[in-house]
Amino acid sequence: MYVNDGEVEIKDAERLWGKDAYEAEESLKKELGDKVRVACIGKGGENLVKFAGVMSDMGRTTGRSGIGCVVGSKNLKAVAVSGTKKMEAANPEKMSALVKGMIKINRAWVMEPPVTNYGTSVWLDLFNDFGDVPFKYWTLGGGSDLTNLGGLKMAEEILTGNYHCYGCPIGCGREVKVTSPAKYAVEGPGPEYETLTAFGSLCMIDDLAAIAKVNDICNRYGIDTIETGSLVAFSMYCYDKGWITREDTDGLDLIWGNADAAIALVEKIAKREGFGNTLADGLKPAAEKIGHDASKIIGHVKGQAFPMHDPRDMPGTAINYGTSERGHAIFTDRVYSPNMVWDL
Ligand code: SF4
Repeated sequence: MYVNDGEVEIKDAERLWGKDAYEAEESLKKELGDKVRVACIGKGGENLVKFAGVMSDMGRTTGRSGIGCVVGSKNLKAVAVSGTKKMEAANPEKMSALVKGMIKINRAWVMEPPVTNYGTSVWLDLFNDFGDVPFKYWTLGGGSDLTNLGGLKMAEEILTGNYHCYGCPIGCGREVKVTSPAKYAVEGPGPEYETLTAFGSLCMIDDLAAIAKVNDICNRYGIDTIETGSLVAFSMYCYDKGWITREDTDGLDLIWGNADAAIALVEKIAKREGFGNTLADGLKPAAEKIGHDASKIIGHVKGQAFPMHDPRDMPGTAINYGTSERGHAIFTDRVYSPNMVWDL
């Protein structure tokens, strides 16, 4: 769908179908000009993976709740928007005062310097000791240790720059480059806290380069890293319990911490191949198919996986999660605020 100065055109996107989200965006920019803004799905959305997202700006995403699956079900690959008109505010003075006020609030936020310098992953450095970071599919927490993860480690080893969403003074996004080992080589958007935790501590993968790689793979397929990482960790839990074996996993050795098996499983999920197809509809259907006690141990609300904050650390989070109208989400309200010292 191409929206240009208010005119809407539905165009044939056959040449884009099958391209990953980065390729599709690049291709549309080449065709329609650099100024066009693109929101698109990757192959995860095309394959109707239930937790596919809508990707934009080469690596940013509307990640949760499966919007990309809905878009894919409409056979819509991308929405490209461009225009020459100026945005007018009804009251420019008030608008300008509001923007200045918001910038002031942001600047005064105690987390602003660490988030600017180390990204959202600094949460792992700062709050693991408080028990906020889940480990080993929610069976460990309270300051368990993985030494190669976190925002500081990322800055030290693979960071190349910050990414700012349009007009944002904070710039929490990470740009990273991995050259070694070659199998994890990647250059572009780096993992956020949720990704680093879902594929890191939740799967016991203590390898920053591997997680940067799996982040890139998820971005290209356009699938939610929280849901996908949770499914991989859940599969490792089931494998550890003996509820699934190599026969079920297409030969993948899903022991805790096996980064290569995790990456292979992500590919299978996005393509709906073999055991990946068992997982591609989300935690609840996967647990029902696996049987044993799997349905009793999955962490979800309304079928959506927990985000990477342990309610046993901040009990308000449990109310937050449990009452969110779209399943598990951390930002729908702030019932947990009284648990956070800087909000008092
Ligand atoms: S708007 Fe700013 S703080 Fe929010 S995600 Fe974008 S860069 Fe980060």
